[in-house]
Parts: sequence; structure tokens; C-alpha cells
Amino acid sequence: MNELIVAGQYNIGHICTTHQCKSGLKDKTAMRWVSAHHERTDYTFGDLDAASNRFANLLDTLGVLPGDIFFTFLPKMPEQFFAFLGTLKHRTICGTLFSNFGEDALLDRLSDSKATGIITKKSFLRKIKRIWPQLPELRFVILVDIDEHSEENVYSYKQLMDAASAEWTTALTPPETPSVLHYTSGSTGKPKGALHAHRSVLLQNSTTRDVLAVNSNDIYWCTADQGWVTGTSYGIIGPWSLGVTQVHFGGVYDASVWMDLIQTERITVWYTAPTALRMLMRESPELYAPFDLSSLRHISSVGEPLNPEVMVWGEKILGKKIYDTWFQTETGGILIPNRPGTPIRHGSMGKPIDEIEAAILSDDGSQVGVNTHGNLCIKSGWSSMFITYINNQEKYDSRFRDGYYYTGDTAYRDDDGYFWFVGRSDDVINTSGHLVSPFEVESALLELDEIVESGVVGVPDDLLFEKVITYVALRDGITIAPELDLKIKLHISNRLSSIAAPHEVIAIEKIPKNKSGKIMRRVLKAWYLGLDAGDISTMED
Ligand code: ATP
Ligand code: MG
Repeated sequence: MNELIVAGQYNIGHICTTHQCKSGLKDKTAMRWVSAHHERTDYTFGDLDAASNRFANLLDTLGVLPGDIFFTFLPKMPEQFFAFLGTLKHRTICGTLFSNFGEDALLDRLSDSKATGIITKKSFLRKIKRIWPQLPELRFVILVDIDEHSEENVYSYKQLMDAASAEWTTALTPPETPSVLHYTSGSTGKPKGALHAHRSVLLQNSTTRDVLAVNSNDIYWCTADQGWVTGTSYGIIGPWSLGVTQVHFGGVYDASVWMDLIQTERITVWYTAPTALRMLMRESPELYAPFDLSSLRHISSVGEPLNPEVMVWGEKILGKKIYDTWFQTETGGILIPNRPGTPIRHGSMGKPIDEIEAAILSDDGSQVGVNTHGNLCIKSGWSSMFITYINNQEKYDSRFRDGYYYTGDTAYRDDDGYFWFVGRSDDVINTSGHLVSPFEVESALLELDEIVESGVVGVPDDLLFEKVITYVALRDGITIAPELDLKIKLHISNRLSSIAAPHEVIAIEKIPKNKSGKIMRRVLKAWYLGLDAGDISTMED
């Protein structure tokens, strides 16, 4: 196998393109692009290399300097990948923004980061223009869909790329050089800008191979949007650093279309999220009957705990086990996963990868025993560890104590070394002296046919300290009658414990989620208490 790092060159853009070409993959398909209208275009590693070289040259022409911050603000499309890799080759920091962000979300991130430039689409320019007066550092905008430069500081991607050379030599990039900037998805508070370094490629590469089980002959599909860490770490960096062919699909979720994509493209490895799997689970089993999904060899999931019910469904309908993996924006890559060779325990997120040491610590920093809830911590210094929260070193420092990084998640370890997610530390419910995991209650609720999704929160209570409140989205045509209310409470009481049984069941049309599909429990809590829900810029429309 080829070495990943040659002569100290850690540059991610270089490794994913030039290095692959030099290793003999110039003519191999790097990306099969399938547009929303199902047109297919193949790009080789040679094409990726040339386009990202042009983009690096283009940034040079515009006077961008290494270390500046540049953003992509695009839906999934080939230009986004070229821009991302080219920006990294240039040693400029690349941030990625969800394409459906509104003005406030954009303003927050662009002003906090003091971004120099941004690549986007014509239809998004209006949003940017409205906030541009408040962004003195923002020098230019590049539009992917105009043929010629249109006005001052608004450039045509096409015109710039046509004028740029396809030759570029990436400067030697030491491992600590800043690379990618991701604002966290904001499930628990205001988004924070986690800054990464080029060395992250080591872990992203090895986990794509060993955890996601991707090898050089695979056809790999990662459904995550490039706006969040899974989309860059495992939708760009990991697979291309291994020289793997990726399918990228520009369309939205549609169960039949997705199954057709797997069948037609003969996708072998698929990385997706519980929210997508829960949506697929809602479809009738007949939907899947006509599709030949036999190409699928390995399926993994990330972003939220994987409900046991979903794992059972996966084996039955997709014919494969689903491997849960745990990581965060801050960790840059997968740290605690289920992976080939280690038996899965339904509901557990698996065992730490070899490179890291994970620990369950109490609030005072001491190790807690097995099967006891505590703070999920990682020994500082893994290769994809974030460098800082941009403009918030204090917050960064507060996450580290005695050589451990505190993830903000609560978990426990069982006798055999499996880790079990309990909840985000601020989401875990403390009721009558017992800890209740909202995830466990939500998973048990999925067993009831009437319930499509749920969100469980704890709210203050004089007697119990906190009481359990359950929001449910019900199947079409079902309403919350007293019988159903009782059925839900009894079900939780029987399945988990009477302590976890909800005090109140409230039906709503849709459970609030953020753009990466996570249930925003803090929003539910605020609704219940009649408080302002705070920053909801990452909430799904
Ligand atoms: P913020 O930190 O701003 O509130 P966020 O934590 O939602 O945002 P991410 O970094 O995208 O932003 O999410 C990471 C979190 O998602 C983890 O800390 C964990 O709570 C949850 N998570 C991710 N994968 C899993 C998993 N496999 N099982 C359980 N929880 C998971
Ligand atoms: Mg977080």
C-alpha cells in the first residue's frame, strides 16, 4: 500500500488528489456525480487534481493568503468539492456552510470567523448582500452559476477557473497547519467554530479503512451534507485519501430514489445517519421488494444514537447489520465505533479505536467503575483533535482537564469494554434521584406503531427535581386520545421503568431537528417552559 504521508507533506488537498495521481490512480473515477435530475458525470482523480489546482491558483490571483478563512456556501455539487480541495492546497482554511442557512446564521459564522471570501450560487447572493455591510473583512464572493464577473467583488467561477492554470505545486504543509473550520451543529447552544489541522487526515484515512470498512474497490456513498463534519471527514477526506470511488448525489431524501441509487450504482459501502434510517423505516416493506440491494456490504451510521429498533429493521429489510459510530465536530473523526470483527451489541456505540484512550470520568476527574454513568472523555492528543474554538480559547481550554478532553456526552462502559451512550450531559434527565436517558425513552417509543418520532426532555419539578416530558409525532390520522396517552405511559413503564414513564405526552406535527438531523431537545424544553428557544439557526425548516 502507498504511504499516506510522503516527505512530511500533510496537505489534505494534495493527499486527496495529486498524491493519488502519483500513485497511479490518475484515470480512476474519484467521483460519480449524480445530479438531482439523475444526470451522471464521472470525474477522475486527474480531473479532481486539475480543478483543485485551478482553484488554488484562483485564490492566489484574488490575493487570498494562507491562513485566511474561506467558505463554501453551496448545496452538494462538484464545484464545492473542487473549491474545498483547492482551498486546502492553498493552505487557506476552508469552512463549509449548509446551503439552507438564513441571514442570521450566515452573519454569525462569517463575522465570527472574519471570512475573506465565499463561494456560492447566484440565488444566495441576495442573502449575503444584506449582511455584507456588517462584514468588513469579506472581500469577495464567487458565484458558480454566472458566466462573467457581474459587479464589483462578485466574480464568475467559470471566468476565474478558465483563466487559472491547472498546474500547482502545493507548499509543504506541516501537520499542525490549520485546515477545516466547522461550526458545531448547535444542538445545545450557540454554534462554536471548531478549527482542525491537516494532521486529521491520518485518523480520517485509517478509520475510513478500518471502521467504515472501505477498500480500494468499493463504491462508497456518504449521505451527509458537506456543511457538517461527516460530510468533509468522510464525504471527502477519508475516502479520497484512500483513492476510493465515491458516489455523490445532489437530490433530496426519497426512499425509492435512494434504493434505486444503491441498486444502479452498485454501492458497496454506505455511511448515513439514524434520522435517515428512521425515515426509511417508516416506509412500507413493500417499497424495498423490487430493489436488488445485494451490492451493499457494509452500512454505518453516525450523528445520534442508533435505536435498536432501527438496527433490527436494517437487518431485515436491507439485509445488513448497521454499525453505529460515535464522533463529534471537535474530534474530527470517528473515535468510538462498532466495526467489522467486533460483535455488535444493540444500542452500544462500540469500542474505542486503537489510537485513542477513552475514559468515563466523574465531575471531579476520577475514573468511575464499569456500568456507571459519567463524562465521556478522551485522552488529549489524538491525530484529528481540533486546535481551538475560533475566537474562544477560553471555551476550548474549559473542555480539557488533567490531560483529558471532556466531550460533553454522558456514557458508561460495560464489563467487556463496550461504550453505551446515555445522552448529552445537559440532556440527561435527573428525576426522583435517578438518571433517565432521553434516548432510551425515545427508542422504546419507536416500538409503538402509532409513533413516528419523539423527543424526550426533563423539565424542573418541585417534587422530583425534574420530570419526564414526551413530545410525539404521530402517524397520519392518529390523534392523542386518553387511551393512547395511557398506552404510551404503560409501555415506557414496562419496557424501562416507572421512573422513566412520561408525566405528560404532547403530540406535535414534527419533532424539531437541526440540519444534520439531530433532535433539538433544548428547543422542546424551551417550548414547554414558554421560554425563548435561543439560537435556532441550525434548525430544519
Ligand atoms: P453543539 O456542540 O453545538 O451542541 P452538536 O454537539 O450537535 O452541537 P456535533 O459535533 O455535530 O454537534 O454532534 C456531536 C454529538 O452528536 C456528540 O457529542 C453526541 O452527542 C452526538 N452523537 C454523534 N454520534 C453519536 C452516536 N453514534 N451515538 C450517540 N450520540 C452521537
Ligand atoms: Mg457538541
